[in-house]
Amino acid sequence: MNAIKVKQCSNCGTHFNCGDSAPKKKCWCNDFPPIFNLSEGGDCLCPACFKNSCSIKIEEYVATITPETALDNKAKDLPKTTNLIEGIDYYLENGNYVFKAWFHLKRGNCCGNGCRHCPY
Ligand SMILES: [Zn+2]
Repeated sequence: MNAIKVKQCSNCGTHFNCGDSAPKKKCWCNDFPPIFNLSEGGDCLCPACFKNSCSIKIEEYVATITPETALDNKAKDLPKTTNLIEGIDYYLENGNYVFKAWFHLKRGNCCGNGCRHCPY
């Protein structure tokens, strides 16, 4: 396991913990798509700033997706993350979960339910 380290956010200066808080409890950053973990100093961002920069990258990527490229998108080949993240995988509207395009891209195909943000 990865011991907990205290780091300082390179963006806002907040101190935060990075590491596994228990043998079965992985660091918070494991909930994020692994492709974004190593890029551009993302290792030194606090959870709030990391989520922010992650969602910007995801929005940029999703904006390049067309129904023709969606079936072969990169997100579906990423190692699966266990927890869905509000604001990245879904958002809440009147208490309902609305899945974002990123969530559908990770699945790799259309579920046929006519989801609002279906990229396929
Ligand atoms: Zn920060």
